Amino acid sequence: MSKSTRWDSKENESKQLPIYRHKAKLVQAVKDSTFLVVTGETGSGKTTQLPQYLHEAGICKNGKIGITQPRRVAAITVAQRVAQEMQCTLGREVGYQVRFDDCTSQDTVVKYMTDGCLLREVLADPVLSQYSVVILDEVHERSLSTDILLGLLKKVLMDPANATKGRSFPLKVVVMSATLEADKLSAFLSNCPVFAIPGRTFPVTCTFGTAVGPKDTESTGYVKEVVKMALDVHTSEMAGDILVFLTGQSEIERACDLLYEKAETIDYRYDVQDQTVEGLLILPLYGSMPTDQQRQIFQPPPSGIRKCVVATNIAATSLTISGIKYIIDSGFVKQLNHNSRVGMDILEVVPISKSEAQQRAGRAGRTSAGKCFRIYTKEFWEKSMPEYTVPEIQRTSLTAVVLTLKCLGVHDVIRFPYLDCPEERFILGALKQLYQFDAIDRRGKVTRLGELMVEFPLHPGLTRALLKAASLGCEDLLLPVAAMLSVENIFIRPGHPEKQKEADKKHRALAAKSGGTNDFATLLSVFQLCKSSDRPSAWCKDHWIHWRALKSAFSVEIQLKDILHRLQQKRDFPVEKFDGNKSELFRRCLCTGYFTNVARRSVGKVFCTMDGNGSMVHIHPSSSLFDEEVELNWIIFHDVLVTSRVYIRTVCPIRYDWVKDLLPKLHEVDAYELSSVARQEVTDEEMIKWETREAAKRQPEVSTEDI
Ligand code: ADP
Ligand code: MG
Repeated sequence: MSKSTRWDSKENESKQLPIYRHKAKLVQAVKDSTFLVVTGETGSGKTTQLPQYLHEAGICKNGKIGITQPRRVAAITVAQRVAQEMQCTLGREVGYQVRFDDCTSQDTVVKYMTDGCLLREVLADPVLSQYSVVILDEVHERSLSTDILLGLLKKVLMDPANATKGRSFPLKVVVMSATLEADKLSAFLSNCPVFAIPGRTFPVTCTFGTAVGPKDTESTGYVKEVVKMALDVHTSEMAGDILVFLTGQSEIERACDLLYEKAETIDYRYDVQDQTVEGLLILPLYGSMPTDQQRQIFQPPPSGIRKCVVATNIAATSLTISGIKYIIDSGFVKQLNHNSRVGMDILEVVPISKSEAQQRAGRAGRTSAGKCFRIYTKEFWEKSMPEYTVPEIQRTSLTAVVLTLKCLGVHDVIRFPYLDCPEERFILGALKQLYQFDAIDRRGKVTRLGELMVEFPLHPGLTRALLKAASLGCEDLLLPVAAMLSVENIFIRPGHPEKQKEADKKHRALAAKSGGTNDFATLLSVFQLCKSSDRPSAWCKDHWIHWRALKSAFSVEIQLKDILHRLQQKRDFPVEKFDGNKSELFRRCLCTGYFTNVARRSVGKVFCTMDGNGSMVHIHPSSSLFDEEVELNWIIFHDVLVTSRVYIRTVCPIRYDWVKDLLPKLHEVDAYELSSVARQEVTDEEMIKWETREAAKRQPEVSTEDI
């Protein structure tokens, strides 16, 4: 097929989309007001078409069109699709930018990006002078960065003094959402106009199952049940593709393996109802999947073959797959939640909300009537599923966001225009953590260090450790570690028990090479060994390491190094000296960023955290310290995994001496005091009073055994 005929068919396809009939009016509506809310059923063409309409209408002559997505994969996939529709090479007129992956050029005028990326751009250029239109997409998802962008754009553009400052033409903002929150959004944006794209949807019949009840809220046994249901549908329902919702990569891969295995045994002469169905094509879909594999998802299956896509929540609204007639809903989703038991954000598998379940079901009724099979009971629906999903801003740590706001001059982070206010304790928690990392001072003002920290797209603790290393001239130790902790898990864990043993052995040998007692050092050593290898991909295969993840880590390391060098050139970067061995230097740097994650041995292999929660934690079996014989007294860790126990992962032994001056900081500032800091600039007089009171209260330091 020639390129032009393919394009014609795409063009026809896009003319069939519900949005097409409203093209002229929609473009006019964008031109007519500063803010516009656009709603329409998922799949109506908002994400892929509206930017093209605006481009066609010549809006780009003033500046770029930026479209944000809460998810990386969505930004990349949609940009690919639009580049194809506009017949240009990805990265030229149409491009994308996600964290650590910039595929844009001078020519890029239609730019898809994650909301986090746009937030970073606001930091450098608060009036977004390069853009003519900014489209915040998938706003109903209520991701943290999108919510903050909404508030910031409202604050900047609603103030007439700001609207044209630093710009030669006014910025237009389009806010796109599934129908749900249109009125609320419009009210938030001073009753701006709402453009509703009328959708066509077909009825979807939903049935409840028996596999998951109200008591199974933490169960993971649903994978088998989902697979069974998919096979039932395949054999007993008429032709039409299946979309299965699960929660994450490993679960999806397991489900796909089971499906392959079971599908092999189907005898298509006898077992299937619809005799036109002759086979099953099983396709996984999750965030960190290679993009060429993702492309397959959108292609129609060969005739007679039924497609079965096993996906994360990404297929609920971000991506639309044509031809889906059957949904299988596990009822669960992976969500980042603040866990007050351990005082950190944790990825957890939780029941979805009822509105989310309805959205999932709706995916079966896009082109004809469909069916949705829920594997959970009606009782689970009634008792375990909340009405709506709580916005991310109300359930995760706000540390990075508060620092960004402060760097943008938003001092009063409590009275910032939030679409839904986070709880005050989350804001105070963030201020407290920023203070602990020396990113803000006691008055809540951003320090020099804070200004440096905000430049890195990393967790503030990790950034703090990296900056410490840089000031000591040993950033080469920390840059690879920061990169390795920013990509997916590099260690392969095969499902087969024999292979598992072999992989474990190789991983232990790698840990031993770096001393065998420091997981951070293992990451560094894997990075260096692979990088210096002649055939790095073969090296990875041999050591059961994910080559793709390591390749990303190499690229991330270079990008972090670039940021660091840029900062070192521009500003008077702090310089310190240290006399001691390399292992100590490395671990001391880590302590600077991870002293909030210090734990001290309690009994046996149980440790107690020092952050005031005093949680009991256990070393995770994946750590090289898990079956270490040496007596460990003090350790730091990167993150936690909560099951029936609280496990800590990526662990490193330290000496009490190295953190003893930092630990009092964990208890120094109480939330009440910081709340006054959050609300207004504090006068010197108030500050002196407060410091005197504070000094009187200060606890004697933790006693100095060990140590
Ligand atoms: P909305 O944003 O309103 O949910 P989209 O613009 O994402 O709608 O999708 C419009 C249409 O484009 C859908 O029919 C979808 O199947 C199709 N589409 C989107 N991305 C791709 C892709 N990468 N490959 C093929 N079709 C796609
Ligand atoms: Mg969309």
